[in-house]
Formats: sequence, C-alpha cells, structure tokens
Amino acid sequence: MSTSSDFHKDTEGRDTAGPDPVALTQQLVRFDTTNPPVNETQCIQHIKALLDDSGIQNQVLANTPNRPNLIARLPGDGSASPLLLQGHVDVVPSDPAIWQQPPFSGNLADGYIWDRRSLDMKGGIAMMVSAMLRAESEGMIPAGDIVLTLVSDEESGGNQGARYLVEQHPEQFQGIKHAIGEFGGFSFNMGSRRFYPSWWPRNRCDISGSLSVARAAMLHWANKTTP
Ligand SMILES: [Zn+2]
Repeated sequence: MSTSSDFHKDTEGRDTAGPDPVALTQQLVRFDTTNPPVNETQCIQHIKALLDDSGIQNQVLANTPNRPNLIARLPGDGSASPLLLQGHVDVVPSDPAIWQQPPFSGNLADGYIWDRRSLDMKGGIAMMVSAMLRAESEGMIPAGDIVLTLVSDEESGGNQGARYLVEQHPEQFQGIKHAIGEFGGFSFNMGSRRFYPSWWPRNRCDISGSLSVARAAMLHWANKTTP
C-alpha cells in the first residue's frame, strides 16, 4: 500500500510526496465495485487507510453497513468558503468480451490505464485523493476547507450515497459554494469517424448560495440516470 511518505516524479521530474495518481488509479480499479451488485467497502477502506496514514481527518458514514461513504476534510484558514471535491466509487458493469484488456486488471498499456472504471471515475478519485495527500504532506493550509466526499451507489440512484448524506448529514456541506465533481471523456462522432478526447474536460460546477445549492447539486448528482 502506498503511504504519504512515498515519493514519485511529477510531470516536471521533481520528487513529489504522496502516492502516484497513476498507481493509485490502478489500485482503485482493481477493487470490483460493480453496481449492481454492490461492494464498495474495500475500496472505501483502502482510501480511508491512506487518509488515516497522512493524518487527514475523515469519517465513514453509511445508511447500511455495506454502502459506506467517506468524507475527509483538510482545514483551511477560513478566509474562503469550503471547496467540495465529490466522486463515486461504484461503477457500471463491463463485458470482458468487448475489451482489449481484462476489466479490473488495471493494466497500463500504450500509455493508458485500460478499464471502464478508470474514466468513471476512479482516475478522478485518484487525482482528488492524491491532491489532498500532497497538500497535507506539504503543510498547505488552503483558504477554505477542502471537503472530499466519496460516495457509494451513484450508478443506481444515489439513495445510499449522495441523497443519504445531504438528507442525514447536511452539516458536512455547510458553507460550500463551489464544487468539482465527475469528469467525462466521452466520444463524439464527426462524419464516419469517432473521436476520443485525450484529456478529460473538467466539469466544474460553480455553485452560488451555500448549503441549499450544494444540496441541490448533490441531489442532482444522485438523480442522474446515466454514468
Ligand atoms: Zn460516473
């Protein structure tokens, strides 16, 4: 398991504290969190162990024991509103027959991690977790709290994830005005050719207001019917 004391090279060749986001993506992909059925516990516990090791305050909140949600907070100096980083650890089913690399392998081939889950959205989660671990290890004090929220059950309605959190634990999102959530790398067609983006456009959701709007954003997220 990677720890906060591990180092990897950043894109400019510098030693950087915290787990390598690529390696962390591979680790997370290998947890089969296909929904349905459901099994998010081991994946959440793996991320929690990384946060615990770094001393980042975090807690698991669950409506039912096998559907855990993880909330971590890196305290800011209070000069800005908290920033929400939100992601889901469950994934849609994959048919191995149509894949060039086995699902759940986390194989790195031709410079890409091959897995449906790396895009939706364990690669994004790995970036969020790595950023928090690096910020903590470098002693960064952000202007506002950074609130990392990783949920279960996004792919089948969100009742055990986003909806449960905003309805039963609204205090966790008090004062949040901005959020960064799920990314997409979706193909598009031009004539007879299909194109794939080489980098994920970042879906940034600027939220005006505070709790009520953060709640609405989380509920909208929970109500999505497509991954
Ligand atoms: Zn998704």
